[in-house]
Formats: sequence, C-alpha cells, structure tokens
Amino acid sequence: MEAIHLWWIGEKDPGPRTLEHLQLHLGRAIGLPVAVWDDPARPPDAYDARRKQWSTSRILAWLVQSGPPGLVLAVTDQDLFIPILTFVFGEAQLGGRAAVVSSARLGEPGLPDPRVALERLAKESVHELGHCFGLVHCDRPGCVMGRSSGARDVDKKRGEFCTTCRGRVMRSGGEAR
Ligand SMILES: [Zn+2]
Ligand SMILES: [Zn+2]
Repeated sequence: MEAIHLWWIGEKDPGPRTLEHLQLHLGRAIGLPVAVWDDPARPPDAYDARRKQWSTSRILAWLVQSGPPGLVLAVTDQDLFIPILTFVFGEAQLGGRAAVVSSARLGEPGLPDPRVALERLAKESVHELGHCFGLVHCDRPGCVMGRSSGARDVDKKRGEFCTTCRGRVMRSGGEAR
C-alpha cells in the first residue's frame, strides 16, 4: 500500500499537533497511511523576492525531484502564488503525486480559536490531495473539492469528499491502492 508523505517545508516550527492533526484527518478522508517526512531541505529557487511569496509550480517541480516516493503533500506557513492570482491556499498536480498547501492565509487576525485555522488547513490538504487523485472542483454542497477563494469559504465545506468524489478517489487508488 502506498503511503502519503507529509512534509513540513515552512519557516516556523509547526508544533507537533499540526502534522499529527493533518495525519489523522487525511488518513480518515483518503484511507491511506500517512507518514511524516522529516527533512530540513527547502525548495531552493521557489521564493519570488519581488512578490515576497513562494511559487507553487516551482515547489511542485522540486517535490517531484527531491521528495519522498509516492504521494507527497508539502505543508508550509509561507504565502503561495501562481502568476495569475494574488495568492493561493495550495496547488497540486492533477493526477500527479505532488501537492502543496499553506496556512499563511487561513488564520485571519483576531480569529477567536486557533483550531479554526487548523481545520481549514486540514480541509485544504484533503482538497489538494484530491486533485492528485484526478478530482476536479465539485459543486455538491459541502464537498471538500468545492472552490474556495477566501478562508470563510473553507469553513462552509466539510472535511470530506462527497459520495461521488469519494468513489473517484477509491477507484483511482485511495484505500485500495
Ligand atoms: Zn482546487
Ligand atoms: Zn464532490
């Protein structure tokens, strides 16, 4: 059975609970073992000094080259971008094996409970890995594959796939892989 590797590539120490929580959440939603990949390496050329953000396409290319085998989700506290957007919460290779997600925009100042930001990060992690399983965006109410342009949109989604998306994940390797 292929595992999902979680790789912290952020700046600050995420604390033990963050990765543990993601591990549990991803394991439940996708049904594959989730292991933490502990490696101090960071993408060497992904920071854009002009934008003061990290390029997701460069991170994904680096993950495929330098990351662990199998599915890999990089998690960071740094702000991410793709050229046509101001920022993104994350990006993944559609049907590929690499994904990245960021907590940078998921906890607005004054958020009463830090667990809210962690829940959002867990949902966006499932979402990006869903793209790795070939899923595109889904309009069914509450499905984790719904589009989110702001952190509040993430709160409206559940942390799981709808029945249709879940079926697709299973057919393309979740649980049975
Ligand atoms: Zn998406
Ligand atoms: Zn769905």
